[in-house]
Amino acid sequence: MTQQYSRILLKLSGEQLSGKYESGMDPELISWLAQEIKKVVDSGIQVIIMVGGGNYVRGAQIAGHGIQRVTGDHMGMLATMINALGLTDIFEANEIETRCLSNIFAEQVAEPFVFRLANKHLQKGRVVVTAGGIGRPYLTTDTAAVSLALELDCNVVLKATKVDGVYDKDPAKHKDAKRLEEINFQQAVENSKITVMDKAALGLAMEHQMPVVIFNALKEDNLLKVVQNKDIGTKIS
Ligand code: UDP
Repeated sequence: MTQQYSRILLKLSGEQLSGKYESGMDPELISWLAQEIKKVVDSGIQVIIMVGGGNYVRGAQIAGHGIQRVTGDHMGMLATMINALGLTDIFEANEIETRCLSNIFAEQVAEPFVFRLANKHLQKGRVVVTAGGIGRPYLTTDTAAVSLALELDCNVVLKATKVDGVYDKDPAKHKDAKRLEEINFQQAVENSKITVMDKAALGLAMEHQMPVVIFNALKEDNLLKVVQNKDIGTKIS
């Protein structure tokens, strides 16, 4: 099948990066992921990554007992920065030219996120890893991912999950559950059982017609197949 994408945004959640550990990062798993991403970069596709922080802190979960929600979200954004720094080094160790751009002020550890700078890095074939989500509280990295994909004119948001996509019923409970190849935004936003991506993120994607693919990035070659438009995951469009 013909390749359709020239620039993609890949959303990696923090939870996925912890691999065999309960929290934190699993460098071995991230090295494996780096090789998967390298295949895509080597095929000439520009890659920008939005990384979550749920393997350390989520603002909504930690708020309370004295921690304000805004502070919790700041902590969450700092957690995404820890992940972004780790990803950047591991990618470079795997011979992928990578730059970490931060949406929170952190000049000592990363370049600031600047639209033109991000564009320049991408045009030069470098992977851009974004730290700090979109830099504002009361948001998640899912919403930040869609927002950034719009800003950088990506063709698609690829949301890596541990499931193969969206199913017609819960695959954990029903053996005959079928993966849906494609659903529309309306269905994804309205169906309360579809929790694989934040509704706010889906709403933003719907408003601006930014397609989203939910897929399992931990299966070999899945990422490459998704960008080649092969039948992997569920496309929401
Ligand atoms: N966060 C935020 N603004 C953003 C992105 C993230 O405030 O633009 C905070 C928020 O508290 C969130 C946390 O950072 O819960 C970590 O991100 P997320 O929960 O999306 O991580 P994931 O679940 O993808 O690992």
